[in-house]
Amino acid sequence: MSTVEKPLEAARGGASDTASIAVENPATGATIAHVPDMRADEVAALVARARAAQPAWEALGYEGRARVMYAARHWLVDNRDRMLRTIVEECGKTREDAIVGDWSFVVDSLGFWAKRAPGYLADERIRPHSLFLLGKRIAVRHRPLGVVGVIGPWNFPLNLCFGDAIAALMAGNAVVLKPSEVTPLSNLLMAEGMRAAGLPEDVMPVATGRGETGAALVDCADMIMFTGSTATGKRIMAQAAETLTPVSLELGGKDPMIVLRDADIERAANAAVSYGMANGGQVCTSVERVYVEEPVYDEFLGRVVEGVRALRQGVPGEGGSVDVGAVTFAPQADVVESHVADAVEKGAKVLVGGKRGEGPGRFFQPTVLADVDHTMKAMTEETFGPTLPIMKVRDVEEAVRLANDTPYGLNSSVWTKDIPKGEQVARRIEAGNACVNDGMVNFLAQEAPFGGMGDSGLGVRHGARGIQKYCSTQTILTTRRAPRRELHFYPYSRVRTRLLEGAMALLYGRRKK
Ligand code: NAD
Repeated sequence: MSTVEKPLEAARGGASDTASIAVENPATGATIAHVPDMRADEVAALVARARAAQPAWEALGYEGRARVMYAARHWLVDNRDRMLRTIVEECGKTREDAIVGDWSFVVDSLGFWAKRAPGYLADERIRPHSLFLLGKRIAVRHRPLGVVGVIGPWNFPLNLCFGDAIAALMAGNAVVLKPSEVTPLSNLLMAEGMRAAGLPEDVMPVATGRGETGAALVDCADMIMFTGSTATGKRIMAQAAETLTPVSLELGGKDPMIVLRDADIERAANAAVSYGMANGGQVCTSVERVYVEEPVYDEFLGRVVEGVRALRQGVPGEGGSVDVGAVTFAPQADVVESHVADAVEKGAKVLVGGKRGEGPGRFFQPTVLADVDHTMKAMTEETFGPTLPIMKVRDVEEAVRLANDTPYGLNSSVWTKDIPKGEQVARRIEAGNACVNDGMVNFLAQEAPFGGMGDSGLGVRHGARGIQKYCSTQTILTTRRAPRRELHFYPYSRVRTRLLEGAMALLYGRRKK
């Protein structure tokens, strides 16, 4: 319990009549904290304070802001046990899932953006091609938007909320964090860490609360970075349209894995188990469905069944004691259960698991489904749980067709020893991200854009575009040496008009060879 006392203190300070939200440890069912359920006026006040604090933060420059990020990295390393316990308790996930998916990624991000932001946001010099602009200089400048609202989900609460704030802060913005109401504690703790690292007051306040709190942030922030469900993403975009507030949306997925007949079946099966069950399957980039070419189907299935059967599930301890943790969000357990029931009703076989686990915590057994097809929700809707539905396909054509039979397009993978063929197949998958002989780890490439197609979202995180989105661009044209009167200035005269017309005709009238 001591782990969560501090962040709770940090969240207090709203009006005394603010309602509160109980935070539960999903692995034990115990209530571990209460946080304020902030009203719209409280959110507006936080944004106003952040807006007032932003200019001084921007004025610190890249070096000054980077110093805070490096100090935060030290703080996060020194306080890792506190942070990891907080994440484990609020999510019910294993310590390993908290280390890989949240803590280490954010530790890495702090240094990554501190180092890369100046390059990614440096002024761009452009040589204009137009005849009218001969001798003029053009520079494109990236300037911070002001206050960025970062709204996050519950599956990787630190990574997908505070983690997305790092680039926004390095760009010179203030940020208001709105973590999921299910898992607010790690972001509150991180706000304490940022203060300890020297972040000025009000540059990164945390607005705890439910969906209404997030909606209030959409109304008053200058940009919204959202990670969560497709349904909420669409609502946010519609609301943001009212004020023309830019949004970046990282939404749901139904990531396919295609195993071709010439794949390294042992590696592919090991990866299916890990990338399907990591973080209890509650990963937007996890393997949600598998298509295996007929000649290797039995071998692959056998190996996956063996691997999943060996997984240990239970209340996470200090590390190494269990492999799969709890279902973090109560309604998600109903979704997982309903997808398994729907599949079974339509003829699927449960080869491992298939049921909720023993309480008092909230668990769903690691599950393997065979004899599945696209009439089943388990193959077409996001399950976001520890299930692996595995389908036999005739050939690569059928696999690609089925992989693309989805409104989503986030992550995907192709498994084959024929690398050129794997890369060709990857290019045919309609998803923002594709791996050949790998999965999930592509998220760690912070230099490369990561984002979804279709119902999986708009915009990207990571890479140059992942920080430039937190800025508006200003294009500055400078004329240094020039005549008093340009050819196109008033007054119009017949001689100059002829000259101009002739020059244009000469330039554009030549035939292309
Ligand atoms: P969710 O959409 O229910 O909630 C996400 C956040 O939005 C929460 O903080 C919530 O309070 C807030 N919210 C809810 N209604 C709102 C509104 N009207 N206006 C503003 N904010 C509002 O999602 P979730 O259940 O927390 O997260 C799971 C989903 O997130 C899954 O679909 C998963 O695929 C997706 N996800 C996507 C990525 C990615 O990178 N694409 C990463 C992780 C999770």
